[in-house]
Amino acid sequence: MKRLHHALVLAGLMLTQPAQALTIEFDYTYDTKGFFTDLLTGAPIIERRAILTQAASFYSGFTDSLSAITPQTGDQWSVQITHPSLGGGAITLNNLDIAADTLRIYVGGSNSAPGVLGFADSGYNLIASGSEAFTDAVATRGQENAIGASATDYGVWGGMIWFNANNSWHFGSDAAGLMPGTPDFLTTATHEIGHILGFGSADSWWAQTDNGYFTGTNSVTAYGDAIPLDRFGAHWATGTMSTVEGVPQATMMDPSTPAGNRELPTLLDYAAFADIGWQVTATAVPEPETYALLMAGLMLVARASRRKQVA
Ligand SMILES: [Zn+2]
Repeated sequence: MKRLHHALVLAGLMLTQPAQALTIEFDYTYDTKGFFTDLLTGAPIIERRAILTQAASFYSGFTDSLSAITPQTGDQWSVQITHPSLGGGAITLNNLDIAADTLRIYVGGSNSAPGVLGFADSGYNLIASGSEAFTDAVATRGQENAIGASATDYGVWGGMIWFNANNSWHFGSDAAGLMPGTPDFLTTATHEIGHILGFGSADSWWAQTDNGYFTGTNSVTAYGDAIPLDRFGAHWATGTMSTVEGVPQATMMDPSTPAGNRELPTLLDYAAFADIGWQVTATAVPEPETYALLMAGLMLVARASRRKQVA
């Protein structure tokens, strides 16, 4: 039965992938507190993992060519990240192999103070040495002018996301059943991936901020003016509005989404990713028809697992 569910999800997702697509791999190695994994049986919690895949699909239309990170003899790379389940502080990852056009995100979750939803980061390099091609792939994935105060592009290996298990998450692929007091897991996952893609973190992001405003060309065009930021400069200001297919919606990359709401990427959010340097195409937003198929596949998974819980 589980194989069948996987097949349905994959069939839906393949339809949304353009020829050249950004692939996001989720790694559950450090899911040591059972947020995505049944710790008793070791079985994946498919319903939750499927939502991460759905979140990644909102970026699958980014068509940048990211060079592979392939350590050869003489190359050395160690990156330190926060443990995705907050188990024992930081962890060091050595000589990771990351395929072209692919990011790897280590995920986990654990209980923390209520109110916090999650956080993401890409860690920092303890060592990155070897051939120029290798160190360039580690630092920028082959993107031009991606480092420094006047950077215009961005490349990254991936990162980590921690989710706060101490929330009554809505794990649905659609918004049905999303109720006041239940934060939407899809919204938070998509938001956190946005930070790994450089929103509020890339040099090219900071290069386009000015005194509490973001001045990237695509974003200013989408918004009509420079866009106010939160006090850390890492999000749009709270309540910043844009649209999804012409319908007004609060931006996904403002600091928080009220529990009970679903806020997926708006026109302004995608414009910012273009300003950070991503090749954002029209296909960044799945076509309505293929999106409906994707949803249908995921809903079957969700229904099947609900039945299972009842039984
Ligand atoms: Zn955030």
